[in-house]
Amino acid sequence: MRLTVLLTAVAVTVATTGAATPIVRVDARAFQPGEVMSVTIDSADPAEAPRVTAFGRHAPVFNVPPTTWRALVGIDLDVKPGAYDVTIETGPAEKRVRSVHPVTIIRKVFQTRRLTVAEAYVNPPPEVQARIEAEAARLAELFGAESASRLWTGAFVRPVPDPANSAFGSRSILNGQPRSPHGGTDFLSEAGTPVHAPNGGRVVLVGDLYYTGNTVVIDHGQGLVSLFAHLSAVNVQEGQDVTTGALIGLVGATGRVTGPHLHWTVRLGNARVDPLSLVAIARDGPTIGVATRPPQGPRPRAAATQ
Ligand SMILES: [Zn+2]
Repeated sequence: MRLTVLLTAVAVTVATTGAATPIVRVDARAFQPGEVMSVTIDSADPAEAPRVTAFGRHAPVFNVPPTTWRALVGIDLDVKPGAYDVTIETGPAEKRVRSVHPVTIIRKVFQTRRLTVAEAYVNPPPEVQARIEAEAARLAELFGAESASRLWTGAFVRPVPDPANSAFGSRSILNGQPRSPHGGTDFLSEAGTPVHAPNGGRVVLVGDLYYTGNTVVIDHGQGLVSLFAHLSAVNVQEGQDVTTGALIGLVGATGRVTGPHLHWTVRLGNARVDPLSLVAIARDGPTIGVATRPPQGPRPRAAATQ
C-alpha cells in the first residue's frame, strides 16, 4: 500500500531556564488521529532519562545509545484536530529543563461502512452479555498495563505478508445502528496463513473471545500491546516470551466475522493506533522509519507559526 508521508518534524524548544535545552524532533507518518508519533530527544545529560508528556499522559522513554532518548506516542482516534504540546523535561530534579514542542493534529476522514449482517452481530443474545463484559474488562486491563521494560527491538514487521484493507478507524453502521470505530487493521489473508509476532513481547492472553474468536494478546512493554483476532489455531501460551517472527497462530474466521482474515489491534499508552503506522515509524536505532531527513542535512526550520 502507498503511505502518505507528511513529515513535518520541527525542532523548536522553548526553555524555561537558562540550562542546556535538549534537541527534540517529533516524527510521524502523518499527524492525524490513529497515528504513532516518534519523539526523539538528544539530551545534554544522557544519564538522566527525560520525561515526555503528551495528550495528558506520560510516555515511557528508551535509550538510543549513547545520548539519545525516544518515546512513542499514540494519537488516539478521538483526538480532535488542533494544536497540542509535547512536553519534555530533562536534567536532574534540582535543575530540570522543561521544553515544549508543538504539534498540529490535522483532521482525518475515516470511511463509513454500511453493512447488513445477521442480527446476532448487532445485538448479541442476552445470555452472552456477561461474557462480553468480562472479556472487555480483561482486555481493558491488558491495554492499560504500563509494563516498565521495553520488550521490542529493531522495527515492527507485518504479521502476514498479505495486503491490508483500509478498515482502521472506519465507522460501521450495522443494520442501521452506528458502532464504535474499527480499532484494528484487517489483513486479507486466507485461512491457514501463518501469523508471526510483529516484534518481541510476552503473550499475556490466549483465549476464545466472543467477538474476536481465538485471540492472542502480546505485551511489547512500555504500554505497547498487540491483539490478534479470529485465529483458527494458536501456537503460543500465556506467559510465553516471543521474538520477532515467532509463529503465534494461523489465520481463521473465529468469533464474529463474515470470513477469514487477520485482525491486528495495537494500543499504545491505551491510544488506538493503526498497526501500520507502528510498522512505518517505530525504530529503536538512530534513524526512524519514515522518510528521515539526511543526518547531515540542513538545520530544521523554526516553526514559528505553529
Ligand atoms: Zn477487524
